[in-house]
Amino acid sequence: MREAERLSQISTSMIRRMFEIVEKAKKEGRDIVSLTIGEPDFDTPREVIERACKAMNAGYTHYTSNFGLEELREAIAEKYGVSISNVMVTAGGSEALINASLAFIEEGSRVVIPTPNFLSYFTYAKMCGAKIEQVKTHDTNYTPDPDRINEVMDRDVSVVFLNYPNNPTGAVISERDARAIVEIAADNGAVVVSDEIYDQIYYDVKPASLAGYENVVCVNGFSKSLAMTGWRIGFTIADEKLLDSMLKVHQVNGVCAPAFAQKAVAEVMAEGIFDKLLSRMVSEFRKRRDYVYSELSKIYDVIKPEGAFYMFINVKEDCMVYAEKLLEYGVAVTPGLPFGDYNETYVRISYANSMENLKKAVDGIKNYESQRA
Ligand code: PMP
Repeated sequence: MREAERLSQISTSMIRRMFEIVEKAKKEGRDIVSLTIGEPDFDTPREVIERACKAMNAGYTHYTSNFGLEELREAIAEKYGVSISNVMVTAGGSEALINASLAFIEEGSRVVIPTPNFLSYFTYAKMCGAKIEQVKTHDTNYTPDPDRINEVMDRDVSVVFLNYPNNPTGAVISERDARAIVEIAADNGAVVVSDEIYDQIYYDVKPASLAGYENVVCVNGFSKSLAMTGWRIGFTIADEKLLDSMLKVHQVNGVCAPAFAQKAVAEVMAEGIFDKLLSRMVSEFRKRRDYVYSELSKIYDVIKPEGAFYMFINVKEDCMVYAEKLLEYGVAVTPGLPFGDYNETYVRISYANSMENLKKAVDGIKNYESQRA
């Protein structure tokens, strides 16, 4: 049996290796605080679960339209100031990303990805047989300088991926830069996939949505904003023409998101309690961000995260070595390598963890650094 050529550039070995290392440490009875978690540590709010149970009992257990339940699309359209015809509900943000990738990344084309960035974009580009053009952002507050994007743009670029608030850095791009990049892409006939899945989790400046441009596909969902990662409910906002292209993939891929989950979220939004549920979680994340930032900025040069629940740190040591050694001090972090080029000495920490655990982790990191000094 032979794996298809399109997967030849894609590896799971690093993530598997880190997982095995952490599992081994746990089996040896070591108490490890994991700062590797890519989802809110909160349970899905009871208000969502109750409405989902009611919906299941009421028969919301079948397919919905490929575009999603009308009442959910309406609620999303209202929130983002777009028409319902621009909204498609998907099976998580990931399905929306792969739909956009298969719809717009031309084989042999180039895909522009600012680094560091969410590792899935690299995978999608490789799966679609494209070449990857990485744009460094470490010296520009982890957001891409539009001039640097301009330098690598030409008619061979099919897609530009943007993700703000960003995983793994927590950076938020300025509205001006984001719009400049969209215009540069438009001038070159490229689609911008704007992954806005963390748009509700921000601390100071509200991230601008890029919804409304003819060449932009906004990817979003409720995995993070309502702590619903296991429910698989995301959405895309785009021009109808772009949605039509993505429908060709979605109709054979995700097909629809779970009906009862769509119904529950639609009700939470229509009843106006979405913001209340969200702000409970965000205010907790803010306390943790402030704590982790104030402690780690004493040891490392760090950029204060403006959104999401991640921080990306230059530990000035090979990231795999650092991550392995830090485990001996009871802390697991994610090495920077999977997030793109130039990240060999960086690690991602996720503060989606209890204050008690974060304090233990900070102590572990301080202990490690004091013996290194
Ligand atoms: N985009 C980014 C930047 C993410 O971090 C994640 C989840 N880790 C996703 C998309 C996928 O979200 P979902 O669970 O809705 O597929």
